[in-house]
Amino acid sequence: MITPNQTNVVDANACDELLAVGKDLVAKIIAGAKAKTRDGKAIDDYQVLTRKVAKLATQVEAATEVLEYAKAFQKLQGASDQFVDGATRIFLCESVRDLAHEADQFIDDFGLDEKDLSESLGNGDMKAVLREGLSEAHYRALGRNCLEGGSENNRWIWSESGGSDEEELRKMTRRFARDVVAPEAEHIHRQDLLVPEEFITQMSELGYFGMSIPAEYGGVGMSNLMMIIATEELSAASLASAGSLITRPEILAKALLKGGTEEQKAKWLEPVATGKLMVGVAVTEPDTGSDVASLKCKAIAGSHEGKQGYFIEGAKAWCTFAGRANILALLARTDPSPESGHKGLSLFIVEKDAFDGHSFEMIQPGGGKMTGKADPTPGYRGMHSFTVQLERYFVPAENLVGGESGKGKGFYLQMGGFAAGRLQTGGRAIGLAQASLDTTVNYALTRPQFGRNISEFQNTQYEIGWMAVQLHAARQLTYAAARAMDRGDADATMKAAMAKFFASRVAVNVSQRGQLMHGGWGYAEEYPISRYVVDALVLPIFEGVEPILEMKVIGRSLLAGGGVQ
Ligand SMILES: Cc1cc2nc3c(=O)[nH]c(=O)nc-3n(C[C@H](O)[C@H](O)[C@H](O)COP(=O)(O)OP(=O)(O)OC[C@H]3O[C@@H](n4cnc5c(N)ncnc54)[C@H](O)[C@@H]3O)c2cc1C
Repeated sequence: MITPNQTNVVDANACDELLAVGKDLVAKIIAGAKAKTRDGKAIDDYQVLTRKVAKLATQVEAATEVLEYAKAFQKLQGASDQFVDGATRIFLCESVRDLAHEADQFIDDFGLDEKDLSESLGNGDMKAVLREGLSEAHYRALGRNCLEGGSENNRWIWSESGGSDEEELRKMTRRFARDVVAPEAEHIHRQDLLVPEEFITQMSELGYFGMSIPAEYGGVGMSNLMMIIATEELSAASLASAGSLITRPEILAKALLKGGTEEQKAKWLEPVATGKLMVGVAVTEPDTGSDVASLKCKAIAGSHEGKQGYFIEGAKAWCTFAGRANILALLARTDPSPESGHKGLSLFIVEKDAFDGHSFEMIQPGGGKMTGKADPTPGYRGMHSFTVQLERYFVPAENLVGGESGKGKGFYLQMGGFAAGRLQTGGRAIGLAQASLDTTVNYALTRPQFGRNISEFQNTQYEIGWMAVQLHAARQLTYAAARAMDRGDADATMKAAMAKFFASRVAVNVSQRGQLMHGGWGYAEEYPISRYVVDALVLPIFEGVEPILEMKVIGRSLLAGGGVQ
């Protein structure tokens, strides 16, 4: 039995017991929802319930990874870290508190009864454990730890190789991000400029575009974990003009590696890996976003100047980097009947010229036309996101991913790419949240009010402690999802979706709490926190808008499958 004072240290047994309570409760909630939704078949009749299940299961998964990291730290580093121990205890308590609260409030929806709750939560002991574990004094202690010792993330990275390769990459990328990207980031954002070519050239030379492309295809063949760490550091300097540049080649490369022909891999992967070709991803349409199976943009078989291929007809929306990109990974309907659904979709590599600016027009010699117009956005500036119109735009048959046998497999290939994109977005979100925390700490240390720096006030310390705990949990969940992908675990795709969902929400919350700590100056463009806030808002939208990710990806996997292993 856990007693309140045991939670003052990361006592493995006490934490295991707390986590066991969370896992037990979430397993009951999943079992209840599985019964109601007939193993996920009827989630649309229980959408709100499914979202709740996804959220709670994700929180318990994050708690699991936070505790695993703390244990690995103690075991492999032979020492304990005050911040890691404190954050672990708090996050475990927060997770059990949220579960207990939700389970109690929605007891009937979850198909639970009072006995289920009392069996999981015990009698009054658990309440006392949570009260003590969540004492605001613990958050303040962590806040002071960041304010006095610095909030920069130099903590040990848990990996198969012991962490030294990852730490080296983190140092190198941080140097590049701070020296090259950060000085330009504000200017690009405020003037709504395109990523400077200098960033692309230098990132190409440093190998960032080929991180997850095997060496045999011209990449550097690094792990997903390494890719996340690079993305995180680049995103801390700028989400849009550095951190997100790797996502597009990553999505296309994963689709090509999964379903491309050998000729296609040999032709396209090397120039993508070396940054010779910039990529855009064209899935979303003006009328169709989440319901990808209903996409309307058509690919009509035909020939042009004696060459077999497809004429692309239709519109795409929100195609980020479509202007500068040399190729678009475009999902189009090769089977015209709407009933064919996702089975009628195929993935094409669409070649185009590179343009700067906020609009472009490309006319092919045979009259095919592609035009693009960037949709103005409050944040995520640097790559511009375009609405693209295609009129009889010719694509040769060899650019159909997978060749003739790739016909109708576009949805499946694209979804494989999106799983990698979601993991990447976890990395983008923790980088942005880290930048928000760092800038808030620096501001608090230098902003005097009422005769002292605001860092000395209890509430500031509490807020910074809270931000640091959420960020720590998001990082451990994202790194764990990357390790799961590297091992090829069966549930890696769901873990990547959980990491994207959780880390994106953390980035929104942490940047907004950081903004409040800046007072009025947090709303001034002069301070980077105002950019982090608007940039963060896009994270829960793309790569699967939050409610859809919860219901149709995480919820469905949990309710139709066996849950997280
Ligand atoms: C800045 C930015 C960059 C982007 N970059 C790209 C890119 O490069 N390439 C690309 O292809 N796309 C891109 N996107 C598009 C993005 O992936 C989509 O916006 C996202 O998938 C959601 O689609 P949607 O906007 O059509 O929203 P919708 O699908 O219309 O969803 C809107 C809301 O409707 C509700 N809803 C929808 N369906 C259901 C349902 N079945 N049940 C219950 N509620 C439902 C949900 O609440 C959802 O939040 C980008 C978007 C933005 C904002």
